[in-house]
Amino acid sequence: MIGFFTDPYPDELLYSACARYHHRTGYLSNAATVSDLFGHDRSRMAVDFPTRLNFLASQLPSATYSVDNLIDDHTMLPLYSPFMPPERHRALRCDMGGRGGGSVHARLGVLTSATALRHLRFCIMCIERDREIYGETYWHRIHQIPGLEICGEHLVFLFGSQVRMYDRRNKQSFITASQATAELTIANSPATYVNPDNREQKVLLNLAMDAAWILSTHPEIYDLKALRMRYLRLLVENDLATFTGKIKQNVLRERFVEHFSSVLLERLGCGLLVKNNWLRSVVRVENRARNPLHHMLLIQFLGCSAEDFFRLPAEVEPFGKGPWPCLNPVSGHYGQTLISKCHLHYSRTGRFRKLFGVFGCGCGFCYRRKGPDARDRRFEYDQVVCFGELWYRKLSDAIAVGDHDLPQLARTFRVLPSTLAVEISRVKKANNLEGLVRNRFRGERIGRPRKTRGMTESYLRSVYRTRFKELALEKPHAGRSALRKIDNEAYMWLLKHDKSWLDQNFPRLRCPGPGIRIDWSERDQRFSCAAQETAAKMINVSGRPIRASKTAIARELNILAVVTKHANKLPLTVRVLSEVSESEQDFALRRIRWAADCYRQELVPASSWKILQRAGISNAGMARNPLVIAFIKEYASELRNINECGWESSTSSSTQILPFVRV
Ligand SMILES: [Zn+2]
Ligand SMILES: [Zn+2]
Repeated sequence: MIGFFTDPYPDELLYSACARYHHRTGYLSNAATVSDLFGHDRSRMAVDFPTRLNFLASQLPSATYSVDNLIDDHTMLPLYSPFMPPERHRALRCDMGGRGGGSVHARLGVLTSATALRHLRFCIMCIERDREIYGETYWHRIHQIPGLEICGEHLVFLFGSQVRMYDRRNKQSFITASQATAELTIANSPATYVNPDNREQKVLLNLAMDAAWILSTHPEIYDLKALRMRYLRLLVENDLATFTGKIKQNVLRERFVEHFSSVLLERLGCGLLVKNNWLRSVVRVENRARNPLHHMLLIQFLGCSAEDFFRLPAEVEPFGKGPWPCLNPVSGHYGQTLISKCHLHYSRTGRFRKLFGVFGCGCGFCYRRKGPDARDRRFEYDQVVCFGELWYRKLSDAIAVGDHDLPQLARTFRVLPSTLAVEISRVKKANNLEGLVRNRFRGERIGRPRKTRGMTESYLRSVYRTRFKELALEKPHAGRSALRKIDNEAYMWLLKHDKSWLDQNFPRLRCPGPGIRIDWSERDQRFSCAAQETAAKMINVSGRPIRASKTAIARELNILAVVTKHANKLPLTVRVLSEVSESEQDFALRRIRWAADCYRQELVPASSWKILQRAGISNAGMARNPLVIAFIKEYASELRNINECGWESSTSSSTQILPFVRV
């Protein structure tokens, strides 16, 4: 532990206290001071974000100093803390306690920032006051904030010193404020006062005030969502965003530049160039640390002080805090807070978009209210979006009793008598429920907002389930498909919205039933025999020939699908089918023979083309086949020999010389 320490003054930079220690000890080398305080003779002491504070705290009396005290009261971190994710804040504190090195500056983007401060600054009035009170002066933390040019306490402009903020050549140089300002007095360096009527100077003054408040108060660090919610609240108030979170970025940018002037923004290093529109990301509050100056400017633009801003609720609740009450008067749970979610939406009609909150209870009752609530309106609504299943059931029960007193009933159901009359006629019409469902559909299509769809679903579900179940009771032997044919509407709705219920209550019947095993070899045998027989029949059938192709045979046997799908399980059938089936050429020859036979029976001496025509052989296809050509020539010459009496002059028989068609 070191023998003594120069206790920091209020809001003194830790660097400043260390510089005073260096001079008080009389060390000639800066390295000796760094070694005393930070346990390393080569470590650098950063002015704004010093590291190795664990070592320093271990050298100091623990009752007075802790690492947290040192960071909170004597470094610049508290100014950045409220605007960064909590986890990053914790990591930075760890870095500053340990050997953080350059990582702290890198994490904060301080060195690369356009607003980075080059030299330490001071207020001449503060110096005079310090000399009076303490006999010496020191480097004030509040004066070293990038972009800030005013001492908020004395309302004067700051002076820049010759002491560099980041001195890379002489890293451990310790220069006290007393040394740097020894020659200066108010007399030889008169202060320039802030003119509160000057708009730019007023902005700078507000920034100084806000920074001082943040540094002294250490506002609580929430996650960045809370920050965004506060911005959203203020943006909505300024008509720059909607409650649903949509921000009018272009208007915001325009009005922002108009408010501060682009000259001032450039001077602060916060110009809004197209390429670097920091405003867009600061409003979004991305998960990263941002220059606190950006946030302070935005807060000021939105008409708040930092103090007011951090006191705003961290939620935007145009309809108060949930859960909200169910306002169904006949539910039996009227007024109980059962609605946990409020859906926000904006009306799409009219010149001005109006905010609405939609509140739907599990009983089906759903109401909406125009917002935001200027006073507590938790038990009020502007419109019922949907009465819900329970409400309709109660109404059904009430009118089923018989004579009813409409005004009395309207009071019970808390609707106008005219509205109730409409609903009663609707319920009456819907004795078989079907009418009611159609009415509800029509109601939705005409002008109900989208949200109601979810609310009426439970109602439709119960109606369709009942309808389908009743139908099944009426027709106990009908399967699912048969029921579907009767009531397709209910079936399709249930299939789309309630499939699990449908499958559970009306399971699909599998065909063939479970447990039946197919004997494929037996089937193969059976199919192959049948294929042979069918092919023979098809070829020998009288009249115009039909081609006995593989497909035609299988189709004739009604086994086409099973042979196509399970060819590997029916090898014999597949082989027989290819053997017995007729090729295109064979079929052509068979047709020619048939055509020639026809002419012979008719005693017509037909020529080649006539036979071709009757056989239905096209010129492009089989007519060019050499075998077919030879076949036709033979038949044609045979037919030419038919004389008028019907006797053939030639004794040669075509059937003897011509090849047989395979049968
Ligand atoms: Zn001052
Ligand atoms: Zn309810």
